[in-house]
Amino acid sequence: MVETPSASSPTPPNREAHTATVNFIDDPDHLPADANIPDNYVSYTLKHQKSLPPVTWENFLNELNWLHVGILGLSPLLGLVGAFFTPLKWQTALWSVVYYYMTGLGITAGYHRLWAHRSYNASRPLQYILALWGAGAVEGSIRWWARGHRAHHRYTDTDLDPYNAHKGLLWSHIGWMIVKPRRKPGVADVSDLSKNEIVRWQHRHYLKLVFIMGVVFPTVVAGFGWGDWKGGYVYAGLLRLVFVHHSTFCVNSLAHWLGETPFDDKHTPRDHMFTALVTIGEGYHNFHHQFPMDYRNAIKWYQYDPTKWFIWACQQIGLASHLKSFPENEVRKGQLTMQLKRLRETQELLSWPSDNSHLHVISWESYQEQAKTRPLICVAGFIHDVADFLDEHPGGRHLLTKNIGRDATTAFFGGVYDHSNAAHNLLAMKRVGILHGGSPHGLEDKMIPPSQRLRVARYNEMGTSGYSSAALSDGEGLLG
Ligand SMILES: [Zn+2]
Ligand SMILES: [Zn+2]
Repeated sequence: MVETPSASSPTPPNREAHTATVNFIDDPDHLPADANIPDNYVSYTLKHQKSLPPVTWENFLNELNWLHVGILGLSPLLGLVGAFFTPLKWQTALWSVVYYYMTGLGITAGYHRLWAHRSYNASRPLQYILALWGAGAVEGSIRWWARGHRAHHRYTDTDLDPYNAHKGLLWSHIGWMIVKPRRKPGVADVSDLSKNEIVRWQHRHYLKLVFIMGVVFPTVVAGFGWGDWKGGYVYAGLLRLVFVHHSTFCVNSLAHWLGETPFDDKHTPRDHMFTALVTIGEGYHNFHHQFPMDYRNAIKWYQYDPTKWFIWACQQIGLASHLKSFPENEVRKGQLTMQLKRLRETQELLSWPSDNSHLHVISWESYQEQAKTRPLICVAGFIHDVADFLDEHPGGRHLLTKNIGRDATTAFFGGVYDHSNAAHNLLAMKRVGILHGGSPHGLEDKMIPPSQRLRVARYNEMGTSGYSSAALSDGEGLLG
């Protein structure tokens, strides 16, 4: 097949595919970045694309991204020193928390759910607000951020994911920013954002906006508001920025490390309330990676997702529309799959009766002959050895011994006592043979112990058709 990721020399079948792709593009000026990638893009790129050597103690000074080190290192340093010399006024404390949420929402509701994932439509005023708040979080322009994040979703847990969680908690939290990227993130299309006037405006004026929204605005509000210029700068500017940074970075680190996988366990993303608390609601990340275009991260009303509440509130006042949510049916399917997987694990930990194909088929005569030397009892076509149960039988030993060498089906199923499901399950564990000719017609349901009438079966255990699960889930597959 194709051995090159370049579109310049594809083999004929691929050229046809490319032509077909290009024909679907409405605007040739905004050709999606991934329009012409070959079908083997991921494996080819991982194998052939050059990457920088791993960072070691010897080379790390040369490998640092000094701009990022400066921003991420100086803000906590200056903030802490400043805090030491600056008393904290309550108004400034409150403003810092409010501004933390504003700039945090700029990232979560703006950069992430609106621009990276298009999970809703935002009116122009809301887009400007989110672009400004997002600039105040000092995490790069919308375009840069969304491009990396789309690669993160597309190539999760591979080296084409800029914050690949398999490279460790520290790497996914901050390491990927403070050293030079080891390789280019995988291709991801942001042509929609390149067309967006507000995204372009923010990208063009990014440095000015960072300075104004990151430092000037929080300072000026505290200064003009209650005369606390220095406090505004230190607390609402610098220290608030440190909190916003590490709060949003936790989406890449903590959310891929801590918690449960209720929707899918193929990749690292996880759901945890603690992560949600520190990330303004982005902690239901297992759900998010399964349903990335859903405007929600938390689907239950009681789960903490202020970003969802914010988007919903914006819709109520007409600033946002077309909030996308995945069909409930599909969401529940994912949950069910994971529940079945766990049930399957439990099922596999238990001991089950011998498989029919492992049991000896014996004639009625042979059964009676053997029952002279062993306590064998026939129930529903199966021969059971009850030697270790004679003294355990709740109804007494005599009820068992009198049925040795006989067919006790009727007595077992209500003739003498209508045994419990638990008794039937236990009886099945004592199977040592099958009576030749099986059991009389009409006893089929009695042949399957209750614990095996409903089982978690893999599709390849369901017989010829994957769709015959209904027939097989009640255990009939065992009879085949
Ligand atoms: Zn993620
Ligand atoms: Zn995302």
